[in-house]
Amino acid sequence: MSEPAPIGDRHHRQRLLPMIGDDGQRRLAESSVLIVGCGALGTVSAELLARAGVGSLSLVDRDVVEATNLQRQTLYTEADAKAGRAKAEAARDRLREIDSSLRIRGWVDDLDAEGVRGYVGEADVVVDGLDNFETRYLLNDACVEAGVPYLYGGAVGTVGLSMTVLPATDSRATRTSDRVRIGTEQATPCLRCVFPEPPTAGSSPTCDTAGVLGMVTAMVAARQATEAIKILVGATNRVERGLWSIDPWQGRFACVETIDRPDPACPCCGRRRFEFLEGRGRAETAVLCGRNAVQVRPASRAALDLDSLHARLGPHGEFHRESGLIRGVLRAECGDEGDPLELTVFIDGRSIVRGTVETERARAIHARYVGA
Ligand SMILES: [Zn+2]
Repeated sequence: MSEPAPIGDRHHRQRLLPMIGDDGQRRLAESSVLIVGCGALGTVSAELLARAGVGSLSLVDRDVVEATNLQRQTLYTEADAKAGRAKAEAARDRLREIDSSLRIRGWVDDLDAEGVRGYVGEADVVVDGLDNFETRYLLNDACVEAGVPYLYGGAVGTVGLSMTVLPATDSRATRTSDRVRIGTEQATPCLRCVFPEPPTAGSSPTCDTAGVLGMVTAMVAARQATEAIKILVGATNRVERGLWSIDPWQGRFACVETIDRPDPACPCCGRRRFEFLEGRGRAETAVLCGRNAVQVRPASRAALDLDSLHARLGPHGEFHRESGLIRGVLRAECGDEGDPLELTVFIDGRSIVRGTVETERARAIHARYVGA
């Protein structure tokens, strides 16, 4: 078989930029980026980075494409949603169509403490495309431990947040590549310096209950991808410091948290105690035998505000508030046999997802509708 004809110099306009140039373009081609979560943030950042010429991309996601994703998750099509394709695989295939020379891997995986180190250790930069705090704190721990820059991003409603974490390259760092090295004077706060504890389950709105504007997620992902490019071409001095909030509906764009230096008292980057890697914060799941259901027990056991959760679940199906629990059917979520999933949420934060025996699916449903 003959090689396909080359299509010409696709990165020409980017190489013209003095801050990239031929040297920057070569560095990008040698770089490796891990994108965790292939939803609204992950699809946009993956596409921007692939088109920019990052040589190697690894995508990790636990979920499948659904119709409600198409409003903002730019790599997917109706055919992907109809087939219920795994996001990591659908995104991988689409990116291969965009650039056939890209080295790309798609992993259908629910990150846990054991797996996360393997993915992070091979990356030069990690981009957060997650929809839940449980995995975010795990990822922050893994990136600080390994000394790999971590680009936090999140969005709900019309508000997006982003923050660049540059962990100092420590002699104890555990990564395999040394392409990006961060001096102590350049190190930034980590996620736990700014938000010491994850929000308790059910306490904050999620995109699935409060909605989200696709333009906002695209803006946050574009910022994450820009920061990744700066780091990969060696322009770490241009990295934005602090936590940035953006609300294009209100016309607001501001640095809302200006802590500039890592907090020496931070358990993660200050004391190098990686509690989430040691298993803290992980929701436990158990298949309820004979009941076609999975129980999800979040690590934080704070009592839920069932009235506000009931109001948030209202648009997603028929939900009834009973003593100590909320029960109902999720209209848009199908179970293993194609029937709608039934969700019961207890005041202690536990959920029972009926209609599936897949623990990853139940964990995702809990994160989405109850919040993790
Ligand atoms: Zn920290």
